[in-house]
Amino acid sequence: MKFDVLTLFPEMFEPVKQSILGRAEEKELIEINLINIRDFSQDKHKKVDDTPYGGGAGMVMKPDVVYEAYQSLKNKNAKVIYLSPQGKPLNQEKVVELSKQEHLILLCGHYEGIDQRVIDEIVDEEISIGDYVLTGGELPAMVLIDSISRYVEGVLNQESVEEESFSNGILEYPQYTRPETFLGKKVPEILQSGHHGNIAKWRRKEALYNTYRKRPDLLQKQNLSQEDRKILKKIENIHKEKEEK
Ligand code: SAM
Repeated sequence: MKFDVLTLFPEMFEPVKQSILGRAEEKELIEINLINIRDFSQDKHKKVDDTPYGGGAGMVMKPDVVYEAYQSLKNKNAKVIYLSPQGKPLNQEKVVELSKQEHLILLCGHYEGIDQRVIDEIVDEEISIGDYVLTGGELPAMVLIDSISRYVEGVLNQESVEEESFSNGILEYPQYTRPETFLGKKVPEILQSGHHGNIAKWRRKEALYNTYRKRPDLLQKQNLSQEDRKILKKIENIHKEKEEK
C-alpha cells in the first residue's frame, strides 16, 4: 500500500515511522511518501497561504501551490482523500474499504483550510476523524495511515485484526496477561483452562457485555445470532436486577 501525503509539515509524520508501521515500511509492505507542499510555491518567500476573499479570520492555503504539489505526483490515478472536518466520519467499515486500494493520496489542510477550487478539482473524497476541529490534517492523515495499514497483509497477525473491536461490529472482550495475580485481582480462571471452546464462548459473552455497557448503539445495528440474543437477554436481566436494588 502506498500513501502519498501532501502536507505543509512533513516533519510531523515521525510517529508513523515508529513501531509496527516503521517495521512495515522497512519490509516494504507500506510506503509513506511525504510531499512538502511548500516546495511548490513560486513565491520568493515560499508563501503558501493568503487572506480569505470576503474577509474573516485566518489564512487559506493557495490553490495553485496545492495543485502544483499534486501535479508532481507520478501516479495520479489513485484516490485523493482530503482530511477535513466536513468529511464523512471515519469508521472501521471505511478503513477496510480503503485498505483494498493499492495507492492513496492524502491531502492535509492547515490554517482555515484550502481554497475550494483546488478541492473541487482534485479531491475524490473528504474524510473526517470526528466532529471536532484540529489545527491541521496531519494527525487525521496519520490516523488514516495507521488504521488502514493494519489491514495490509503481513503488517499484523491476521487473527488479531479479525478479533478486534468493530471488526465484527461489536467491541472486543477484555484482555489479560501475566502476572496471574495483580493487586489481588486474579485473571479469570477460564482463560487458563486451555479449553478453546469454552474460552471462545466466554470471550463472546464478555464482548457482548462490553458492547452493552459501553456502546449499546452498536448492538442495534448487528445481526445477532440466537445464542447472542440469549446472552444479551441474561445481561439485560442482571443489569435490571442491579438497578432495582
Ligand atoms: N475552516 C475549516 C472548517 O471550518 O471546516 C477548518 C479548517 S481546520 C482548522 C484546518 C485543517 O485541519 C483542515 O483543512 C483539515 O485538513 C484539518 N482538519 C481539522 N479537523 C479535522 C477533522 N476533524 N478531520 C479531518 N481533518 C481535520
